[in-house]
Amino acid sequence: MARRALITGVTGQDGAYLSRFLLSKGYEVHGVARRSSHLGLIDHRLRWLGIDGQVTLRDADVTDLGSLIRTVEAVRPDEFYNLAAQSFVPTSWAEPLLTANVTALGVTTALEALRIARPDTRFYQASSSEMFGLAQEPVQNERTPFHPRSPYAVAKVFGHWTTVNYRESFGMHATSGILFNHESPLRGLEFVTRKVTDGVARIKLGLAHELRLGNVDAQRDWGHADDYVKAMWLMLQQDQADDYVIATGQTTSVREMCRAAFDRIGADMDHHLVIDPALYRPAEVERLVGDPAKARQVLGWQAETSFADLIAEMVDADIERLSATPPAQRRPVRAPALD
Ligand code: NDP
Ligand code: GDP
Repeated sequence: MARRALITGVTGQDGAYLSRFLLSKGYEVHGVARRSSHLGLIDHRLRWLGIDGQVTLRDADVTDLGSLIRTVEAVRPDEFYNLAAQSFVPTSWAEPLLTANVTALGVTTALEALRIARPDTRFYQASSSEMFGLAQEPVQNERTPFHPRSPYAVAKVFGHWTTVNYRESFGMHATSGILFNHESPLRGLEFVTRKVTDGVARIKLGLAHELRLGNVDAQRDWGHADDYVKAMWLMLQQDQADDYVIATGQTTSVREMCRAAFDRIGADMDHHLVIDPALYRPAEVERLVGDPAKARQVLGWQAETSFADLIAEMVDADIERLSATPPAQRRPVRAPALD
């Protein structure tokens, strides 16, 4: 019989790639999709990957215990991937209580649903390198102390330790994957890589002239989401639950990432980039770089996509997407003000 996976956050970037990966492994895939007024759009990432008809969507929310218990009882999952979160750092200052409810308490809710309805299910928690924040070590691994710098990161620390605690308290197979930034053509437009590749594509097509960014000196360890979801699955195939850092081991500044995107279209970044202090954050995470040695040794995992290939894929996908969009619908996405 096919193994069953339940994914919260199935409509997000990682949910889409993880669904495709699990389907390729023969899993029956179910995903939690919260109610939206944009019903026709909620599965747009699954559609992009051509798998929308193969994932069963279930109406539930990680802030609603009853809905998760009913979903777990209906699906009877072998593996539960908790990817749901309010995942954008600036929004976590604008909406700290919502972020705590979804990104922190949502983890307890998911674990409680399993403890009550199906405690033998293997559980994956989507933890984040943002937990390292004001990094206490130049290269971060599973033993590096946390110093979160945003309500989002504080919430992720809560989720991480709740996962560890349910493992230690109840013997649950609960694993925390500490993933460094990972991107793809399905990354949300508000995150810096996708903002840059979409902006560069617009400049290439003559739809825009400038690209406004905040702190371009920040450095991140960027990998490809498609590589990283394989690590999630590998973690749940281990006999013992544990914590793992997933990273490439290399870091790049926002400025250099941006330059790579402009190089892809043969344009000079300095003619288009505008630094906008309004986009600076109240507290910044200046530099992250992870040590994936444990994942390599225990899981046999390593990042496969190079940084250059990642940015090239994203730029090309945005040019293709915008070229296929009717001219009247090519206006840039308007993000709500966060102050
Ligand atoms: P996305 O922002 O693309 O996806 C977040 C998902 O959570 C969406 O499906 C969203 O649904 C869902 N969600 C939000 N609130 C609720 C709720 N109340 N109930 C149920 N679902 C909800 O994130 P990613 O795919 O990039 O990331 C996946 C996870 O990994 C997140 O937890 C993120 O914080 C974490 N992470 C991501 C990293 C990255 O670089 N991408 C790095 C480290 C950790 P909707 O579509 O309706 O908004
Ligand atoms: P994060 O690492 O989860 O916060 O991912 P982001 O992609 O949102 O941001 C990565 C880094 O890019 C942070 O240090 C931001 O301050 C920096 N950055 C600079 N300009 C921008 C911008 O315009 N948008 C975003 N999202 N980030 C920016």
